[in-house]
Amino acid sequence: MSFSALRAIAARLASHPRILGKPISQFSEHLLRDICVEARLPSAIVTSVKRTVEDQAGIFYRKHVVEGKKANYANKGVAPIIKHARELHAAKKTKEEVISYLISSIRDVHGGPGSISRHLGEQPFLEIFDVAHYSGPTSGKERHNYMTSEQAQAFLKACRARMPSTILRLGHSAELGMKVKGEFVDEKCFHLEVRQPVFDKIEQPSDTTTA
Ligand SMILES: [Zn+2]
Repeated sequence: MSFSALRAIAARLASHPRILGKPISQFSEHLLRDICVEARLPSAIVTSVKRTVEDQAGIFYRKHVVEGKKANYANKGVAPIIKHARELHAAKKTKEEVISYLISSIRDVHGGPGSISRHLGEQPFLEIFDVAHYSGPTSGKERHNYMTSEQAQAFLKACRARMPSTILRLGHSAELGMKVKGEFVDEKCFHLEVRQPVFDKIEQPSDTTTA
């Protein structure tokens, strides 16, 4: 196949990007598709969406109680919660008991659940989701990229062009550089907080799927 034929295929793929991973609203999906076209990305993977307190309790239980992974959270109230959940687990309390302890503790944490994770938002017209940038360590050959550095820079530029009107806040890897108000460091992903039009929330069922 000729180089120009390959280029034509690549251009066609990039003009119809596929949105993979977790479901997001139709509005956010359109937005993400437009951003991908501008970044010449053939696809984007949504790795994380808005969570409930119950979801977060399940994540804490699996990661920090069962798997025993270290809990490193900016909110100082989290460490004692995890510590006590581990003690309950060690004392042979059931999964349901430990999770119910976690749910009530997360609800009552100093600063509120939103101070534990930005994904625990309460705002009904703001959709929060992450788009994969890379996985594994930040540097070295174990790093796996979902975007080339050119694509990541173009993705960032396309997001910035939509701030703060559509994208309220944006998290991204430190290596891309911080410039605009509303940006913060969030490694391995682009964290988007997207304002939703009111009609979209009313007319779109929440279980809309993407793939
Ligand atoms: Zn995020």
